Amino acid sequence: MKNNASDIMLNVVEIFHSIQGEGANVGRSAVFVRLSNCNMDCWYCDTYWNKAETMSVSQIRDEVRKRSKPKDYPNNLLIWTGGEPTLQLTDEILEHFSDYYNCIETNGTNPVPSRIQYISCSPKVGPEVLRKNFTRVNEFRYPISAGNKLPDISELPEAEYYLVSPVFLGEEKTRFQRVEENIEYAIKFVSENPRWRLSLQLHKLLNIP
Ligand code: SF4
Repeated sequence: MKNNASDIMLNVVEIFHSIQGEGANVGRSAVFVRLSNCNMDCWYCDTYWNKAETMSVSQIRDEVRKRSKPKDYPNNLLIWTGGEPTLQLTDEILEHFSDYYNCIETNGTNPVPSRIQYISCSPKVGPEVLRKNFTRVNEFRYPISAGNKLPDISELPEAEYYLVSPVFLGEEKTRFQRVEENIEYAIKFVSENPRWRLSLQLHKLLNIP
């Protein structure tokens, strides 16, 4: 039996409207739902996924609708992000958002629900796990800092876009490595490996959410 939207509860960090600041959809208007919790602990993590408010799916849907009306489908991106959204998101939940273009930002540790229409994977696991979890994704977006090695594209599931995103953090977190070094390294990497593209975190440059 299908659960009512008021009965399904999720732990949510925040819901906000902005532009997508990175990846192949950069510059597009989007509503972000940031779900709490993650199964990784990356040193460069720039999101606060621990704090959470428990919300029902119907409350989340109301908040999403306040920020974007589903009138211009498929242009209204609804981006499920985290933390790691696959820890909570299911097809049953996504059924209640079928009038949006549902995208996910995932770390690649779990398969994503089948109702997701756009997969952006920023892998924190190796190619073997990625091949197990995905036959294809829309984009791989690898965080890269100076000296990092990336897997060969032939080892990865198929993707439309292969992107590198220089680790770009505030001063207190970059004491070991300067942002500029990461950008220089990423540009050199792309020039030597032209199937990869550079993705900068525009929202950080613009200082928007
Ligand atoms: S996988 Fe993403 S959200 Fe989780 S700790 Fe790493 S950077 Fe942060």
